[in-house]
Amino acid sequence: MNTLPPAARLLSPASGGATSPIVGRCTLVGAGPGDPELLTLKAARAIARATLLLVDDLVSDDIVALAAPGARVIHVGKRGGCRSTPQSFIEKLMIQAVRAGEQVVRLKGGDPFVFGRGGEEVEHLRAAGIEVEVINGITAGLAAVTALGAPLTHRDHAHGVVFITGHAKPGSGGPDWRALAHTCHAARLTLVIYMGVQAAAHIQAELLSGLPASTPVALVQHATLAHQRHALCELQHLHATLEREGLGSPAVIVVGEVLQGLLALAQRPQPEAAQAVPDAQALSRAA
Ligand code: SAH
Repeated sequence: MNTLPPAARLLSPASGGATSPIVGRCTLVGAGPGDPELLTLKAARAIARATLLLVDDLVSDDIVALAAPGARVIHVGKRGGCRSTPQSFIEKLMIQAVRAGEQVVRLKGGDPFVFGRGGEEVEHLRAAGIEVEVINGITAGLAAVTALGAPLTHRDHAHGVVFITGHAKPGSGGPDWRALAHTCHAARLTLVIYMGVQAAAHIQAELLSGLPASTPVALVQHATLAHQRHALCELQHLHATLEREGLGSPAVIVVGEVLQGLLALAQRPQPEAAQAVPDAQALSRAA
């Protein structure tokens, strides 16, 4: 079935300008948190058949390497030098390429529709008359907690999850952390904060208005990659722990009682040959 509007169908030069159209297509593909093994089969297939890939910064090179040898790869994050108007530039590029008959894959970290502006890109493409397919990826917040061997929900500790950004659109005011803290406490929700490293001191102070100082926190940087690092602490020590451990972006901050088992383990007096809390990744690599 061809769902593309006429604007996306161009006559093929190879067909001598006759009847067969080149049909461009655009697919937003979730690259997952980093480990290529966590890619969906559908994502891997879309990457392999792309003629043009527009790649975000957080997508690992091992995933880009799944592209066909002749495919063009453009890094459109900061690495690509598109700092000034990246979003409008990327959207224009996608529209032009689809109209020129390219199989465009927009490769985004994690899931395309969890932060990362996938929603905005889809709106722009649709406004230009271009249909878009979206392929889910494993979002970093989920992968980060799993990589430590903890769940996001648990019948005894957490009845739901909130995914939230610590870095709102300029001028939008950002989340109401105090309200969120009260809600998470009352409704027993796990809080997963993306892009929260820079505002960690503020977030900590605000959350303490509604959550106990002893609420467990996990800080996970580069989740699922070989250089993954993490720290566990209480909410009252969130910012100090980030600083002490030198953890920076990309990282997720996870707050909630669902981490209490992990924190208790980390706080146990260490035997002489002190060992870090093993994470699931490290265990599976060792296996
Ligand atoms: N669409 C992405 C999120 C994009 S926003 C997703 O679904 O995961 C970028 C933020 O995601 C980063 O600042 C960081 O908070 C988080 N992030 C992405 N990859 C990460 C990783 N491997 N480890 C920890 N956090 C990550």
